[in-house]
Amino acid sequence: MESLQTSYPPNPLLDSPVGGKQKLLPLNMNFLENIKFLRNICAFVICRHIDGAEQGKVMKFAFIKPESTTPSGLLVGAASTYFYKSDHFRNQTSNFDFACTSPTEIVLCRDNKQSMYCHLLCGLVQREEVVSVSAAFASTLVRAINFLEEYWKELCSNIRMAQVSEWIEDTSCRNCVSEILGEPNPELANLIEQECNQISWGGIISRLWPNTKFVECIVTGQMTQYISTLEFYSKELPIVSMNYLASEAVFGMNMNPLCKPQDVSYTFIPNMAYFEFLLVDEVNELKIVDLVDVKLGCYYETLVTSYAGLYRYRVGDILQVTGFYNNAPQFRFVRRKDVALSIDVETTTEEELLKAVTHARMVLESSDLMLTDFTCYADISTKPGHYVIYWELKAKNKNKILELDDKLLTECCYKVEENLGIRYRKLRSKEGSIGALEIRVVQPGTFDSVMNFFISQGASFVQYKTPVCLKSSDALANLESNVLTRYFSDKPPPPL
Ligand code: AMP
Repeated sequence: MESLQTSYPPNPLLDSPVGGKQKLLPLNMNFLENIKFLRNICAFVICRHIDGAEQGKVMKFAFIKPESTTPSGLLVGAASTYFYKSDHFRNQTSNFDFACTSPTEIVLCRDNKQSMYCHLLCGLVQREEVVSVSAAFASTLVRAINFLEEYWKELCSNIRMAQVSEWIEDTSCRNCVSEILGEPNPELANLIEQECNQISWGGIISRLWPNTKFVECIVTGQMTQYISTLEFYSKELPIVSMNYLASEAVFGMNMNPLCKPQDVSYTFIPNMAYFEFLLVDEVNELKIVDLVDVKLGCYYETLVTSYAGLYRYRVGDILQVTGFYNNAPQFRFVRRKDVALSIDVETTTEEELLKAVTHARMVLESSDLMLTDFTCYADISTKPGHYVIYWELKAKNKNKILELDDKLLTECCYKVEENLGIRYRKLRSKEGSIGALEIRVVQPGTFDSVMNFFISQGASFVQYKTPVCLKSSDALANLESNVLTRYFSDKPPPPL
């Protein structure tokens, strides 16, 4: 057992922490076996649906987070790190799994920035061999492209001279990347420069990695907000959202990898843990059913009893049954539990917020602006209180400076409100107990610094997800200090 064992859950149900708080869970070899099983079976299903998926390499953005120890000497670390450091990952070539452009040394580098740079360098040098681009979550892939935008000139210069930048100090990384770089390659450097110099980065993934057949990352739940940005970078390539897992357990996989991101359901793999389901209904009745007894269309929260010692642990994810694969139930990821904004008697869930922001995002489509990240909070310091959404925007045309169109952004505020729940709209339009929704546009790079803040608090880069609703006052202060402009909805939404 490598991770920290917290006290056993009080009977009957233990809640998963919410609002960006770190989980401390026990992990053991069984978790590694399950991850290995999941990776192999996912690779198998992908190959059945995508011709030639195994005939090349994956450019995979995988990272670790250095472990720490508790005062009593127990090792604490991210679940993904536990896997990447295990023999199961090191010996992956013997499994049915894809070869990667990055050697293990890069994944194991303790510095995420050096690691990211080396992942890209290795991927660019082996661009012809790359058949898929992948990361655990869509947010990491978007971050990788942002990083490339910042560093492509330096990467090209490294390729031109066959010399790794001085600041890559991790010796194992330097050595293996130098080997992959080989001889100076000005031709390749010119080619990459030419692509990166184009005004628009639309389709940049297939332009730089021309044999890419698909992009693989999780795009469900909180990650839906990154779909349109990823689609912009990947153009026509399918985006495959393959697996559903957590530090608590492996849950399931997508048996239909080429379906649209909006249609993804995960088939539960029954032998990964003992799964039970808590019915989520209006009356809040505590009804628990087994995996075999879930009903089509119903909403549930998963309870996990695992070999690592969890007993009826509430994962905190709300899922809906969408069908069955043979007899195994399939679930759509709906939302995180308890993530909601509320000013009056309304509760706006994570799912509702994500949907409403997606509508507002469409308003941006006609413009040169792209929404790259957002988070919300309920500001009750004003009378009446109101919803605030922090937006980070980016110009699609990278030679242009960020030009904010007041009318367009005011329209976006209205679009969000128009697509929120009936209760919200009534309270806002008829009762007047909720004030006009506000969008605060923050400086480019702000969400990276929010992420760095959470990483400094113990989050892992590879498992990090921007909270849809922020609770941390430090993170909010960071956002506030980076606000460029504020926009308010200029009319109340229709109440019905
Ligand atoms: P962690 O234990 O930090 O890896 O976080 C696990 C959580 O990430 C899960 O409980 C979900 O809330 C979220 N998650 C993992 N996989 C998916 C997925 N395929 N779709 C949506 N959310 C996911």
